[in-house]
Amino acid sequence: MSIPASLIHDLVIANRVLAREEVVDAYGHVSVRHPDDPQRFLIARSLAPELVGPDDFVELGLDGEPVRSGEDRPLYLERFIHAAIFEARPDVMAVVHAHAEDTLPFGIADGTKLRPVIHAGSFIGGAVPVWDIADHFGDTNLLVTNIAQGRDLARCLGPGSVALMRGHGFAAAARSVIEVVRMSVYLPRNARALMRAKQLGGGIKYLSDGEIAARNRGYRPYSPETWRTWEYWANNAGCGHLLTRPETPPGG
Ligand SMILES: [Zn+2]
Repeated sequence: MSIPASLIHDLVIANRVLAREEVVDAYGHVSVRHPDDPQRFLIARSLAPELVGPDDFVELGLDGEPVRSGEDRPLYLERFIHAAIFEARPDVMAVVHAHAEDTLPFGIADGTKLRPVIHAGSFIGGAVPVWDIADHFGDTNLLVTNIAQGRDLARCLGPGSVALMRGHGFAAAARSVIEVVRMSVYLPRNARALMRAKQLGGGIKYLSDGEIAARNRGYRPYSPETWRTWEYWANNAGCGHLLTRPETPPGG
């Protein structure tokens, strides 16, 4: 069960892009489900995403613990977010958790829901639920540090793509690494546009359900349009040399 080098490289690119695009800083992480064993996933050891390289990944089970005995490198405290989402959602192949500042107000204030207002924000879905760790776990340090908390978050995410985490950040889930990075980059931008529009006053025009559906129908992970963005971000993040484009793109 060897892991293709292209997948490892995609995961390095994802880490670097999320850092470069300021979705993550020293904190935040991205993971991918193991291509041969759906009961495992790959995520970096405890390291700032900008510094992650090909040798920094660990294989964890859906309980959030290392599958190899002797793995003694420090791990992300919040790896249970990923474990629980992979456990609850067989369709999900990649997960991001981040603290992007522009998303935070929407997890705190209940006056305005975070919904798509820009075309690239359509992938977050029509409504973004807010998970409050205090609902079931009382006073905590707000971090998701065990599988029970991860599962509670995964229940809030449900069949959706993104859940906000009150006073903390967000979790995003998608069918591929490219898709989850794209969503995580545009989520704060959508939030920023909505926030600024609110400052202008008057009503807000959200994307309609039909527009969201039309955007999703047209999306393909390796289409020229999607690839253009991935290639641009990877080069911008200094890791264009790690790009691998499949010869026969899955699903086009
Ligand atoms: Zn966090």
